[in-house]
Amino acid sequence: MKQFFRNLQSLHIKLVIIYVLLIVIGMQIIGLYFTNTLEQELTGNFQDNIETQVELIDTRINELYNEYGDDQNALNDEVQSLLSEYGNRPEIEEIRFVNSDNILIATSRISNESNIGSRIEAPLTEEAISTGTRNDEIYVNVNQDNQRVWLLNQPVVQEGQVLGAVYVSSNIETVYQQLDAINNTFIIATVISLIITIILGIFIARTITRPITDMRNQALLMSEGDYTSRVKIYSSDEIGELAGSFNMLSKRVQEAQANTESEKKRLDSVITHMSDGIIATDRKGRVRIVNDMAMDMINMYGENIYGENMLELLRLDEDMILEDIQEMNESQLLFFDKDDEEITIRTNFSTIVKDTGFINGYIAVLHDVTEQERIDNERREFVANVSHELRTPLTSMRSYIEALQEGAWEDDTLAPKFLGVTREETDRMIRLVEDLLQLSRMDNEAEELSREIVDFNMFLNRIIDRFEMTHKGEVDFVRNIPDTPIFTEIAVDKVGQVLDNVISNAIKYSNVEDKRVEFHIKQNRLYNRMTVQIKDNGMGIPASKVDRVFERFYRVDKGRARKMGGTGLGLAISKEIIEAHDGKIWANSVEGHGTTVFINLPCETFEGDEWDV
Ligand code: ADP
Repeated sequence: MKQFFRNLQSLHIKLVIIYVLLIVIGMQIIGLYFTNTLEQELTGNFQDNIETQVELIDTRINELYNEYGDDQNALNDEVQSLLSEYGNRPEIEEIRFVNSDNILIATSRISNESNIGSRIEAPLTEEAISTGTRNDEIYVNVNQDNQRVWLLNQPVVQEGQVLGAVYVSSNIETVYQQLDAINNTFIIATVISLIITIILGIFIARTITRPITDMRNQALLMSEGDYTSRVKIYSSDEIGELAGSFNMLSKRVQEAQANTESEKKRLDSVITHMSDGIIATDRKGRVRIVNDMAMDMINMYGENIYGENMLELLRLDEDMILEDIQEMNESQLLFFDKDDEEITIRTNFSTIVKDTGFINGYIAVLHDVTEQERIDNERREFVANVSHELRTPLTSMRSYIEALQEGAWEDDTLAPKFLGVTREETDRMIRLVEDLLQLSRMDNEAEELSREIVDFNMFLNRIIDRFEMTHKGEVDFVRNIPDTPIFTEIAVDKVGQVLDNVISNAIKYSNVEDKRVEFHIKQNRLYNRMTVQIKDNGMGIPASKVDRVFERFYRVDKGRARKMGGTGLGLAISKEIIEAHDGKIWANSVEGHGTTVFINLPCETFEGDEWDV
C-alpha cells in the first residue's frame, strides 16, 4: 500500500494523472457544451416543425370557420378531417381542437373520438383559451415507459375573438433518444481517447522523466561519493541541457573532490613529516588531528588519543581553559618526561575562527626546545663561569696591588713576593683567555686542522721524553709502546696539546711520593683504530664525576685545581680536538688509586715499509 502511494508521488505517475485529468476535464466541458447545444438544436427543430403545422391548422380552422360558420356539424366534420390528415405524422400522437367552451370538437386519435362533444378537463388548454396565448410543456408519460411528450396549446383567434384552441401532443422522446445515442458515442469516444491518452501519456511522461530519474540516481550516487557515472542526454531541450549541466556539475565536483583529496593528502604528509608537533581540535577542544611528533613529545600513542581533551593531554587543564587561548599571545613552556629525561616543549596556541566569527577549533604547535634550552643554559653557565674565573685572579691581583700601593713596595721581602703572585695571576688569566679563544675558534669551526701523517709511537715517545726531562727523578714513566709504527693523520700541535694536558694532569693530580705514569698503545687493525691509555697512580676521580671532567670549567676539587694553575678547560679543549679528529676521549678512575685516560683515534692501513719506497 505504501509502495502504491509512493508510486503515486512519482513524477511519472503525476504527469500521466495530469494528462488524464486535463483530457477528462476538456472532454467534460466540450461534452456538456456540445450536448446542451445539440439538445437545444434538436428539440428546437422538433418544436418548430410542430409549431409550423399548428400554424397551418390554425389558419385552416380560421378559414373553415369563415366557410362553415353557420353549419356547425359541417364545420366539425371539416375540422375532424383536417386534424386526421395532420395527425397521421408519426411524431404526432394526438391533435385536438377544443372550442371556446372547452368542448372537444375534433381529435386525430380514434380512441378519443368518443369524447367529441363533451367537455375536456385540460387546464393548459383552458388557460390558452382564456388568456389567448400559446403555452406548452414537456410531460413525462408514466403510463408509456416514462416517455416524454410535448404538449402545445395554440389558441385559434379570429378578429380578436378566441374560437378555441388546438392541442397537440407529440412524442419528443425520439429527439432524446437521438441525443442519448449521440451522448453514448461521445462517451465511447471519450473513453477511447482517454485510453489512448494514458498510453501516450505514459510514453511522453517517460521521455520527460527518464532523464530526471537518471539525474536523481546520479545525485544519489554522488551523495554516496561516486562521481564517476554520467547522465545520458536524450534530447537537446531544456531537460537535455539540464542533464548536460548536471554532468558538468558532477565532473566539477569530482575534480574538486580530487583536489580536496590531494590537498588533504599533501596537508597530511606535511603534518606527518613536520619537525614540530601539531595538535588540532574541534571547538570543544577534543583532539581531531595529531601528528606522530606531537604524540612522541607528550609521550602518548595510539588511536585513543583522538577525542581526548587537548588541555588535559598537555597537562594545562588546571591552569587554563579553552577560552584563554583566544587572548593568549605568548607561547607556553611545558615539561614532559621522555626516556627518563625531561624535555622542554614550547607550545604556541591559535584559534581557528570562521568568517562568521564562530570558533571552529584550536591548534597547538609543539616545538621541542630541550636542546636549545640546554644550549642557552650552558651559555649562561659558561658566561657565569668565565666571569667567575676572571674575577678570582683579578680580585687577588687588586688586593696585592693595593697592598703594594699602601707601602709594601718599599718592603724588600714583600714587594717581590707580591709582584710574583700578581704575575702568576696575570699568567693564569692569559692562559685562561688563550684557552677560551681556542675553544671559541673550535666552536666556530674557524680553525682548519693542518694534519700530517705521523708515526704515533714515535710522536708519543718524544712527548714522554720531554716530560722525563722536566720531571727527572720525580715521575716514573712506563712505556708500553710497540716498536712497529702506527701511522695516523693528525694535527701534530693539537694532539700534542691534548697529550701534554693529559700527562700534566696525571702528574698534577697526584700527591703520592712515587708518581708513575704508564702508557699503553693498542692498535685495532680490523677497524683501523688505535687507543692510547695514559694511566696514573694519583688521587683518582669519584666515579660519579669521571664523565664530567670533560665539561668546560669542571673541576673535581676547585681549590686544588686552581692552586695547580688549571683553568678547568684543558680536558674540554682536549675533547674538542680529539672529536675533530674523528676520535674519542674518555676516562676511567678509582678514587684514591689513579685515573686512566683513553684516547681512541683512527689510523692508516699501510705498513711502515710502504713509506720507505
Ligand atoms: P685543569 O686545568 O683544572 O686541570 P682539566 O680540564 O685538565 O682542567 O681537568 C679537569 C678536572 O679533572 C681537574 O680539575 C681535575 O679535578 C680532574 N682531573 C683531570 N685529570 C685528572 C687525573 N689524572 N687525576 C685526577 N683528577 C684529574
